[in-house]
Amino acid sequence: MRIAHTLEELRAHLSGHQHPAFVPTMGNLHAGHLALVRQAKPLGDVTVASIFVNRLQFLPHEDFDSYPRTWERDCTLLKDAGCDVLFAPKEKVLYPEPQTFKIQPNPALADLLEGQFRPGFFVGVATVVMKLFGCVFSESKGQRTALFGQKDYQQLMVIRRLVQQFALPIDIVAGPTQRDADGLALSSRNGYLSPSERAEAVQLSKTLQSMAAALRAGAGTGATDIPALEAQAMDSLRARGWAPDYLVARRRSDLLPPTASDEPLVVLGAARLGSTRLIDNLEV
Ligand code: AMP
Repeated sequence: MRIAHTLEELRAHLSGHQHPAFVPTMGNLHAGHLALVRQAKPLGDVTVASIFVNRLQFLPHEDFDSYPRTWERDCTLLKDAGCDVLFAPKEKVLYPEPQTFKIQPNPALADLLEGQFRPGFFVGVATVVMKLFGCVFSESKGQRTALFGQKDYQQLMVIRRLVQQFALPIDIVAGPTQRDADGLALSSRNGYLSPSERAEAVQLSKTLQSMAAALRAGAGTGATDIPALEAQAMDSLRARGWAPDYLVARRRSDLLPPTASDEPLVVLGAARLGSTRLIDNLEV
């Protein structure tokens, strides 16, 4: 695996390759990231990953400074997963001057759910992704692929719309959410959990599962009282000591509340356990 810290190094490592398959990450890698890298392998002629903790997508009170940085371990894991080129720019390489041009995703999508609780988050994500695409794909011709996890469901939708609206010649491929044996979605932030919090953390996915089961049971009949189901889910997590931001059933197409009984749905949740904020989702 070749490592690039600068744009010049990245272009040198990519020269001769036409079809990169690219997995952007913020590092502190786990099996979710590595599954995306393995999924990327057959989709291009060079598998590229990036590690960049993007200051733009963190609010001032969030964990930018303490976000886990595990460089040596990440390099070993990526190499073993078959990554060919790792792009790990220093902040000054990606942001040599304050980033005054930004990508503003459609507020109708980006101000909901995660965007409501983390204002500006998707501006930061869309801006860095656009920039990383520029770095990784600038020399390539023909098929370009970038992979994102379904674990970040709304983020994946924002990126798909970004690529569509700017007519970027990039295929966006989704990777299924990878989970621990008990069902907890893998996340770099799981490392913040104490042992007792870790044991409790699975309740987020369990709650989403029971919401999905209730929706499936009433599917097509319109019989499920969705606001009541959401309120009950919030209450049940609160009763266990969580501080939920949202637990909702939304349309897969635009993440708005469903208006008809036959629309494909997804349940999405975000909740804090102690000081750790976890998110998860499940298609119904
Ligand atoms: P992050 O490093 O958290 O920015 O995530 C980098 C990429 O990995 C994003 O596309 C995430 O959606 C994806 N990802 C994170 N956790 C998981 C998971 N448990 N399963 C699958 N993909 C994931």
